[in-house]
Amino acid sequence: TDTKITVLVPGRMHPRALERLQAAFDVIQTSAGAEMDLSDEQRGRIRGAATLNRMPAAWIDQLPALEVISNFGVGYDGVDAGHAGSKGILVTNTPDVLNDEVADTTIGLLLNTVRRLPVAETWLREGRWEKEGPFPLTPLSLKNRHVGLLGLGRIGLEIARRLEPFKVKISYHTRTPREGVPYTYAASLLDLARSVDTLISIVPATPETHKIINADVLQALGPNGVFINVGRGTSVDEADLEAALKAGTIAAAGLDVFYHEPKVPAGLLDLPNASLLPHVASASVPTRNDMADLVVDNLIGWFRDGKVVTPVAETPVKG
Ligand code: NDP
Repeated sequence: TDTKITVLVPGRMHPRALERLQAAFDVIQTSAGAEMDLSDEQRGRIRGAATLNRMPAAWIDQLPALEVISNFGVGYDGVDAGHAGSKGILVTNTPDVLNDEVADTTIGLLLNTVRRLPVAETWLREGRWEKEGPFPLTPLSLKNRHVGLLGLGRIGLEIARRLEPFKVKISYHTRTPREGVPYTYAASLLDLARSVDTLISIVPATPETHKIINADVLQALGPNGVFINVGRGTSVDEADLEAALKAGTIAAAGLDVFYHEPKVPAGLLDLPNASLLPHVASASVPTRNDMADLVVDNLIGWFRDGKVVTPVAETPVKG
């Protein structure tokens, strides 16, 4: 029989992933609106889904034959994995294949923030170098900094390794200390912020990490403080951050992620001491291709061999 298994793609999907999915499965694409525009017949035969971090419980409950949700991205906070797990539905993500890219981008964003390189380039492009002279010296430098990582998982560790040749001190905070690393452990985020002058957030969006970067943490970082966020925007109280940057409570911030993406608060856009990127940490063609392949390989693995490649912690493969 040539009957293909039906896979749902709600909303946008990477073109290479979509192409490979269409070759292997009967793909149903829907818009990314709140309601899924599907007939009862379609709902009944959908056994897999590939998504860009969106699969709420309400959608899962509409798909009685669903077995596996393959998320594009290592962060899957938009997928209700707990709910999926409770119904025996597997969730997969795309860990590791993006570690190097995200860590590289983090170092770039840190240097951009501290040395104001994008602002310096604008100075050149606007002809100000020729008319007004050299770009003003940056008050900040990476030299002699003490960097604290909030999160030392797959990506955090790659960031820490890349920081070593910059000769900065490195500390970190996680709930559980990581074995076998040469970095100093801080028992709480506030302890970490008190001991460092540069804080990099690379934790997932969870109820526990919601707005944990707040006025107290920024105050502890101090007036020479630099805050970099490449994890999730939900970890930051953006009003507190904006106020801290305005008041000089900290010196500068570099952000790749925001609370209400793609909306960026006007207050942050207006600040000269914020370096802002549109969530591009993993956004190169080679890395996104690797992520796309892993999304598809998880679905093919499940329906061909009964095995996914990279299940998330909430839905471990049994046996
Ligand atoms: P991992 O699961 O490997 O690492 C997560 C780290 O966060 C661990 O060290 C974990 O340690 C720590 N952590 C989790 N919860 C807390 C908490 N409440 N307090 C302190 N530390 C905590 O994930 P990855 O490194 O692969 O990815 C991290 C996140 O980065 C992703 O979930 C995603 O949201 C984001 N990301 C952003 C990208 C971008 O484009 N900007 C690209 C890729 C990822 P412990 O469990 O011991 O607390």
